[in-house]
Order: sequence, then structure tokens, then C-alpha cells
Amino acid sequence: MTDPPRPLMAGNWKMNGLSGDGLALAAELVRRAASAKGEEAPACDLLVCPPASLLWRVAEALSQSPIAAGGQDCHADAEGAHTGDISAEMLKDAGASYAIVGHSERRAGHSETDALVRAKAEAALGAGLCAIICIGETEAQYGAGETLGVIEKQLAGSLPDGPGAAEVVVAYEPVWAIGTGLTPSLDEIAAVHAHIRGILGGASAEGGVMRILYGGSVNPANAAEILGLEEVNGALVGGASLNADDFWTIARSCP
Ligand code: PEP
Repeated sequence: MTDPPRPLMAGNWKMNGLSGDGLALAAELVRRAASAKGEEAPACDLLVCPPASLLWRVAEALSQSPIAAGGQDCHADAEGAHTGDISAEMLKDAGASYAIVGHSERRAGHSETDALVRAKAEAALGAGLCAIICIGETEAQYGAGETLGVIEKQLAGSLPDGPGAAEVVVAYEPVWAIGTGLTPSLDEIAAVHAHIRGILGGASAEGGVMRILYGGSVNPANAAEILGLEEVNGALVGGASLNADDFWTIARSCP
């Protein structure tokens, strides 16, 4: 039996943070990482994804720490006439080592299709970034019992061919759980993660050890039980990642 992958705790700051509060949050996480010794250190890799306006400065603030920086999205092209967009190369140049792609807020708010998410993931890989590919069902799909079918379709459409386990992370984020305080039951999370693992592991040996994160209203109170589930290899945390105490407590909940 293969060992489970080391978990990843990723904070998605979304469109939050100016230089004052954003850099103070990064500095506080660096301070905690530096003073956490032995068992006090979180048993996971740590990542924060600030808004693009702060990426360079946050990445610099984190550079001497074990905490990585990432972007929240990237364009599928490396450069060109795409006003307001940012390329994977630019994220890398600004100090990122990860890029989130296909977040439901991008899929819904910017009409992103699976094919576009896949193209963005390929761009991220091409730039040497690890792509965090988000998938998840809407409330209506959940209510209709379509979760597993939606997940299968999104995985088939959004994942590049043959990525290594160090290059891609899958984040299962039920859309209805994001920012709502609602979460699926533990059994439901476990069942979806097992299904995703089956698909990834069936596709390649690398897929058997690729990290699968859960995201959607993870907080200090529910983190331990969610992170303790089999095939949950960390979390993508939105709201709670804006508070150093909460993010640190969640990270320290990794078994
Ligand atoms: C997210 O934005 O990816 C997310 C999971 O948000 P929240 O933790 O606030 O539900």
C-alpha cells in the first residue's frame, strides 16, 4: 500500500487584502511557521494565494519561510492582448509556485468551461507551476443526486493528460458549501473523495498519489474531522484563511 501524500493547506484570499492587512497576515504566518517546532508544526505543506496585486510582495515576505505563494487564476496564453488578465508565466515571475484554476467563482462569474480550465491548467504546468484544479457540483446538482456524474465530467474535461502527482492538485469544492457555512456530511465528503481517487488512480499510477483537497466552509471547528477522512489530502480554505489564528488552527488539524 502506498503512503498517503503529504497534505496541502491552501488559503485562497480571493479579492481581499490591501498592502496593510495582506502583508500583516503574511508576516504573522511567517512568524508562526518560524516558531512552530516539532509537533507544533503543521503536518502539511502551506500555501497562500493572495490577490494578484499583492502576489509579488507576499511571495517576497514568505520567501524565507516554508509557506508557498500562489495565484488565484491564470490566462491560458503566455502573453498577448488580454486586458486585465495575468499569465502563468507572470505568476511564476511574481514568486508563485501554484495557480488555482477552475474555481467555481471563475466558472460561474466568468463562464469558464472545462476546456478553458484545462487550457489554464496546461498553461500553469508549462510555466512550472503546480495547478490546483477545482471541481464541484452546484446546489441544484447536489439536490438532484448528480454529484458523482458532475465530478466525473469535470475531471475528464479539466485535467491535462498525464500530469505528475507533484504538478496537479484536485480540489473538490461543492459550490453550495463555498462561503455558506454549509458542508456535506463526512460520509458524503469521503464518498466523493474515494470516487475521485478511483478515477485518478485508474488513469495513472501518479493519480493514485495526487493530492485531493476538500474546500467549502472549512473552519477551525470542523477541520479535524474533515482532514481526518481517508483520501482528503488537505483543504482549500477561503474565508477562514484571512484570519491567521483560524488558518493556523486548520493547518494544525492535519493528522
Ligand atoms: C474557496 O473559496 O475555495 C472556499 C472554499 O471558500 P470558503 O472556505 O470561504 O468556503
